[in-house]
Amino acid sequence: MPKHIDLTGQTFGQFLVLSRDENDRRKDARFNCRCVCGGSAVVRGQDLLRGATQSCGCYRNERLRTTRTLPVPPRAELEKRYVTRHESTYDLATRYGASRYTVAKWLRDYGIAVRDSATATGIAKKKAAWNRRKKEQTKC
Ligand SMILES: [Zn+2]
Repeated sequence: MPKHIDLTGQTFGQFLVLSRDENDRRKDARFNCRCVCGGSAVVRGQDLLRGATQSCGCYRNERLRTTRTLPVPPRAELEKRYVTRHESTYDLATRYGASRYTVAKWLRDYGIAVRDSATATGIAKKKAAWNRRKKEQTKC
């Protein structure tokens, strides 16, 4: 990593780079950035360049908020990705900004068999709990 990169005036995600700041302890270049929300942050140049840090945190929060109300993708799209292309619930969760359990719920709602271990574990746990309850009931 060159130590004297100058990113002043460039924009990265929600950031506008205002000026160089002091290097960090590992001598990596850092920059004073202004976020679109009006906040500011000091960010390492390499984090800006690889897109690791794109806002002071407001944008991430914004995105988290919006993912909760994310529309369910159409059945054909989910089926194609999950069944035909063998993408995992993790891939889909990343793609749609949802949790794996949300993705598994979408699949189940559409009647698509869920094959992933994480969700299979969830189902197995439920089954075990159900069996336990049943056992307790038969005891009486
Ligand atoms: Zn911000």
